[in-house]
Amino acid sequence: MIKSGVNNMLTFDIEEWFHANYDDIVTPADGKPSHFRYCMDTLLEICRKTDCKATFFVLGYIGEHYPDVVKAILREGHEVASHGYAHQLAYKQTYEQFKADVKKSVDILEHITGVKVIGYRAPSWSIVESNLHYLQALEELGLKYDASIFPVKTFLYGIPTAPTEIHKPRVGGKELGIYEVPMSVMQMAGKNIGYSGGFYFRFFPELWIKNVIRTANRQGKSSIVYLHPREVDPTEQKLSLPFKEHFIHYYNVRGTKSKLERILRSFEFTSIAEQLKTRYNLEV
Ligand SMILES: [Zn+2]
Repeated sequence: MIKSGVNNMLTFDIEEWFHANYDDIVTPADGKPSHFRYCMDTLLEICRKTDCKATFFVLGYIGEHYPDVVKAILREGHEVASHGYAHQLAYKQTYEQFKADVKKSVDILEHITGVKVIGYRAPSWSIVESNLHYLQALEELGLKYDASIFPVKTFLYGIPTAPTEIHKPRVGGKELGIYEVPMSVMQMAGKNIGYSGGFYFRFFPELWIKNVIRTANRQGKSSIVYLHPREVDPTEQKLSLPFKEHFIHYYNVRGTKSKLERILRSFEFTSIAEQLKTRYNLEV
């Protein structure tokens, strides 16, 4: 297998099919049988087959319901990080509620694995300009990095003017002691757009995505891929959503599993923790 020499970062947000943050839907009770275990087996198998390591941002809720799956992630050599406990938007929580939600998830995950959690990603990229100072809570909890900022503007999230490379964020004029690992973007018509995760990953053609990753890698830059378990199984339970949200949530789920496998075969991918250790001398 010939892969590019630059390490890209592979990430998954580990949650159930009903974890979403649209205003106009009511999250259904956890009644219907989900395909969560099948989806997780699929993701872990793809990583194994393509020799890629990943960061799994796991909800505390998932830790409570599927502790064996969290152990399997670790056993396969991947990083277990936090996606919060209950999948609530960070900017709809107070500072203290946010901190408590993250702490609860970190405690659950560390109890299962016995390994320190060092990274966090907010549900639906919900660290935005108005709550950027919430990053301080992560430092107070002893975390080493955040990966919640998407330098784009969408109806749900984004800080379009945020730095696009890994950096130490500043809050109130003070540099924090944690790293920010922003989601990958590319420039199109003068605007930042995503290309390598979630809807963008499903929407853009495979050859086009590969080309953007290759171009970034040639410039010495990494790309981050992110996906959810539900995105590798077109038969997973589905939320009933209005047209726009349905399109964003489910467009081309059918082709995603094989597309992911082929992209992972074409490039080097590792976890965020590994990337920070090797390229930014992070000591943990
Ligand atoms: Zn999520």
